Amino acid sequence: MTTTVIENIALLVTHDDERPERTDAALVIDDGRVAWVGDARDAPAADLSLDAGGGCVIPGFVDSHAHLMFAGDRADEFEARMAGRTYEAGGIRRTVAATRAATDEQLLANAARLMSELRSQGSTTVEIKSGYGLSVADEERSVRLAATLTPEVTFLGAHVVPAEFLNGTVADDRDAYVDLVVGEMLDACAPHARWIDVFCETGAFTVEESRRILEAGIAKGLGARVHAAQLGESDGVRLAVELGAASVDHGTFLTDRDIEVLAGSNTVATLLPGVEFSTRQPYPDVRRLLDAGATVALATDCNPGSSFTTSMPFCLAVAVRDMGFTPAEALRAATLGGAAALRREDVGHLRLGARADLLVLDAPTYVHFAYRPGVPIIRDVLSA
Ligand SMILES: [Zn+2]
Repeated sequence: MTTTVIENIALLVTHDDERPERTDAALVIDDGRVAWVGDARDAPAADLSLDAGGGCVIPGFVDSHAHLMFAGDRADEFEARMAGRTYEAGGIRRTVAATRAATDEQLLANAARLMSELRSQGSTTVEIKSGYGLSVADEERSVRLAATLTPEVTFLGAHVVPAEFLNGTVADDRDAYVDLVVGEMLDACAPHARWIDVFCETGAFTVEESRRILEAGIAKGLGARVHAAQLGESDGVRLAVELGAASVDHGTFLTDRDIEVLAGSNTVATLLPGVEFSTRQPYPDVRRLLDAGATVALATDCNPGSSFTTSMPFCLAVAVRDMGFTPAEALRAATLGGAAALRREDVGHLRLGARADLLVLDAPTYVHFAYRPGVPIIRDVLSA
């Protein structure tokens, strides 16, 4: 196997427990794994060398929340929101219509294009959700196609109740849709997915419906994740913790009790700054979560409605500027936090044995993500 030494690193972030950051460092990659980390002067010889140019080297970002299986564009909605209209979950149904009308090739090409944007901006592990098909066939092809792009595939048949179950063209009640999700749709999707997710929110699914859907997924061997507390306070956070969900995402409106429950659990609180930015909602204050001892992740929530960004650097800048993160906490949330939200131990850090997924920055420190917002400071993206 070929070994590679990365030299001339001004600042190396490994997230090692004893020494999470080191200066004047070198790192050796062997067979796609981190094989050696230490002071530059002690670096062993390797087959190849990469000069970091006095830049900073960090773990690749782990984006634990992205909706990439869709077609269409909703720039008009964004424009209207910026002119004063509020965000409602129902806009999802527009994307559902466009997604159903797309061919497999179009769906996959759009998702692959977004994956390549994500990667070029440093995300080396990406979760992909379904949720814009909302029929057995359209959800099945969404998770099946997503599985060709990432191992972190999430079945989100419970994104919203599709229009045909509300206007009586297929059935006259939402219970019939929940029956479909936990029955035939879950059977078709579970073989291609690792996770099940529910949009537990006013306008989407109630806490009781969410419980039924998540429990059905768990019984099929899927891990649970929950969208909750995006539009207001809800019992969704407590449901997520009770069911042992890996992550509860959004948390725009968290109560003190929610934070207490999260801090005493291994459910990660995943914050999505792109959503508050794109919907003009108030940013959650991460200090409440971090001071209580909760594990926090940052993710893009890339989707065509409420957060159409593929840029984790943008999320870091907003997180530091508006959510109370220090630059180090934001980086940790976007790497190690995302890995925890996907229950992955091999990514999100550069300790010995980690996957060699890393970013070489054209900057002496990762602080530049927030200090120089919008500037493309990622020079190289390496992944195992
Ligand atoms: Zn989402």
